[in-house]
Amino acid sequence: MPKPKLAVYKFASCDGCQLSLLDCEDELLTVAGAVDISYFPEATRAVVKGPYNLTLVEGSITTPHDVELVQQVRRSSKFLVTIGACATAGGIQALRNFKDVQEFVSAVYASPQYIHTLGTSTPIADHVQVDFELRGCPISKHQLLETVGAFLYGRKPNVPPYSVCMECKRRGNVCVMVAHGTPCLGPVTQTGCGAICPAYDRGCYGCFGPMETPNTDSLAKGWSGLGVKEPDIVRAFRTFNAWAEPFRKESVAHEK
Ligand code: SF4
Ligand code: SF4
Repeated sequence: MPKPKLAVYKFASCDGCQLSLLDCEDELLTVAGAVDISYFPEATRAVVKGPYNLTLVEGSITTPHDVELVQQVRRSSKFLVTIGACATAGGIQALRNFKDVQEFVSAVYASPQYIHTLGTSTPIADHVQVDFELRGCPISKHQLLETVGAFLYGRKPNVPPYSVCMECKRRGNVCVMVAHGTPCLGPVTQTGCGAICPAYDRGCYGCFGPMETPNTDSLAKGWSGLGVKEPDIVRAFRTFNAWAEPFRKESVAHEK
């Protein structure tokens, strides 16, 4: 039996999520034994043509070329999984969506006429059908291995959609909001990181994006009670997952 073919594509991103695959030091040889890594320019010299059984897509759509390429990627993939905040929510670069991108282009580049960019940074699912979205900035390598394994064995990935708070309780973390009055996005953020930030007495800043039913309105009211000002609430919801709908709507609601 030929091994299933795995492809890894990149759009607008920092490469951090695809590097999570290379970061699987102990498991990488097992992965390489189970699949034929056919397209992964970050890690391999050879390219094996598609179609691919499983394609991991990192990054957001920011150029006219991206719009065309992602359609080709979809056509050549049996299953397509997006990885990271860029691919699932537009990433930090989606902050442009709240402004006029041409103003940035004129201010940053000496010859803006050579810049071919879209006015928005959008997630892959806005352009093609996506079979599964893996959150995080960057993603968790454990969730990545679980997801790759699940698609290879034809089952649903066991990636929980609940909040970072659940992870805090499991670890025995003291709640930083209740105990110290530290603003934390954990109650509305999807788990997956192991509640790293609260474990170090810091508030979560939402790098895994919204959990399945986030009550952002209630959390923002709680933050106001802690004395957080409206512009800081806007900024808190406008980071890596600023264009994810619940975070976007909450930030807009607090914009003057
Ligand atoms: S989600 Fe974060 S770590 Fe992943 S590619 Fe985007 S910026 Fe990099
Ligand atoms: S606690 Fe929040 S900000 Fe920190 S790593 Fe986890 S999801 Fe990201």
